Amino acid sequence: MSSAGVVVVGSGFGGGVAALRLSEKGYRVTVVEAGRRFADTDFARSPWQLHRLVWAPRLRMSGIVEVRARRRLLTLTGVGVGGGSLAYAGAHHRPEPEIFRAPGWDPSVDWPAELAPCYDLAERMLGSTTVPRPDCDAGGDGALRQVAGDLRATTTFHPTRVGVYFGPPGVPADDPYFDGRGPGRTGCTGCGCCATGCRVGAKNTLVKNYLHLAEQLGARIRPLTTVTSLHPQPGGGWRLRTVRSGALVRGRVETLDADQVVLAAGAWGTVELLHRCRAAGTLPALSPALGTGTRTNREVLLAISDPGAGVGPGVAISSALRPDDRTLVQLCRLGPGFHPLGAAFVPPVRRFGPHTALLFAMERANSTLTSRYRCGRMTFAPGEGPAEPVSLAAARAVAGRYAERVGGRTHTLWWGPLLRLPFTAHLLGGCPLGGDSRTSVMDVHHRVHGYPGLHIADASAVPTNLGCNPALTITAMAERAFAQWPTA
Ligand SMILES: Cc1cc2nc3c(=O)[nH]c(=O)nc-3n(C[C@H](O)[C@H](O)[C@H](O)COP(=O)(O)OP(=O)(O)OC[C@H]3O[C@@H](n4cnc5c(N)ncnc54)[C@H](O)[C@@H]3O)c2cc1C
Repeated sequence: MSSAGVVVVGSGFGGGVAALRLSEKGYRVTVVEAGRRFADTDFARSPWQLHRLVWAPRLRMSGIVEVRARRRLLTLTGVGVGGGSLAYAGAHHRPEPEIFRAPGWDPSVDWPAELAPCYDLAERMLGSTTVPRPDCDAGGDGALRQVAGDLRATTTFHPTRVGVYFGPPGVPADDPYFDGRGPGRTGCTGCGCCATGCRVGAKNTLVKNYLHLAEQLGARIRPLTTVTSLHPQPGGGWRLRTVRSGALVRGRVETLDADQVVLAAGAWGTVELLHRCRAAGTLPALSPALGTGTRTNREVLLAISDPGAGVGPGVAISSALRPDDRTLVQLCRLGPGFHPLGAAFVPPVRRFGPHTALLFAMERANSTLTSRYRCGRMTFAPGEGPAEPVSLAAARAVAGRYAERVGGRTHTLWWGPLLRLPFTAHLLGGCPLGGDSRTSVMDVHHRVHGYPGLHIADASAVPTNLGCNPALTITAMAERAFAQWPTA
């Protein structure tokens, strides 16, 4: 690789920002991505196309979501060129300002002031806009608004902001965002399939913004390639070992050389890779803080069957309310045809899809897990604060009222109460930021302590439970980090 070559590991939100901003600054960028590349039409039409939904390459499933279960945690993470943006519901939320006063946000940085322009930029890049059509007098959004009234939280009810193109439904349009440099979009049809992969072409995934623009500037993306280890080179620079993702027998190991490496493999991928490198002795000086401060965003998912009109059409997450000052509850929907997913709840939901409202709650409270690496597996031990929740009283109250309003019934994920297994789609932390290498993995410029040329920009850098969807914050933090790089 020529000088100023940067390898970015992972192509999600942090990786997308790295690829574009470093390409703009003249670096030669190669993005290595474990998952495959998808065209809009490759996403699953129904849950029977499990191989297009779930990532388990050894079972020949190369979908967009990886499910991992450990004793204390069940996680969903996105996989593929575009990372979590392929499966995300597209909801964008700026956290409450007091978040940045919580422990973990290093006090040497004025985070609200430094991140404010980065949030603006992230919103522009991801095409963030307020959902124009939650019909707040009808369907699920109407019911949620009534619930807000019941709970004296009317002023907190709001349509969500999402990264979705709301041109005329189903009508293709030239790039509406980047003066014609981006790909075309098609107006959202309100099918509700955002989180199973948008086949319409309305959701602004990273392949439609950051990665698209980065490739135009020469960034190369290598899909289906997993980075297995990192080796600092004696004269400076890095060597990465990679294998073909999901190879049944130990595949051919390839090496990639780089002057600098950006880890953007997500809060699971980055932390696991660093743990493995430390255990194998290739990065022995990594901070003992690696894996501390891992967070679940304290999430709970409830379903409410609605025997009446149902939740109605719309984007996957269309409105929200705050039943108290630390809990956010969002109304979610899945598209038609996803009935088998009703089996994930107790009692099972029979008419899953348009007749089911999903309530997704997140709580802004401090609790952590610590990840460890044993026998080639990442495991989790309790960290600070209360246990991770399998139920939230405020969310149950919203669900109870909602069920009363629609004459339905509340259903919970069966593994929550039965196995006491917390669940998260928003795993955060594990690589604390700070000036002291004993208590943080990287400095506030996202440079790993003790390893020049190694950087981290993804969910593992988010140092608190945000109590809201994190993708916008991950993007804004990455924008801040790469704005500080010099030109090549
Ligand atoms: C179903 C679902 C819905 C969601 N909805 C929302 C939402 O509406 N709003 C929101 O804010 N957030 C949402 N999220 C969460 C959001 O997707 C994540 O927080 C976000 O994607 C994390 O970004 P990241 O930059 O940390 O990395 P990711 O986006 O997770 O990307 C990491 C990438 O690295 C790759 N990778 C991992 N290890 C390796 C390796 N060793 N070698 C090469 N590549 C590797 C992975 O395949 C992946 O593509 C959702 C998540 C899920 C699963």
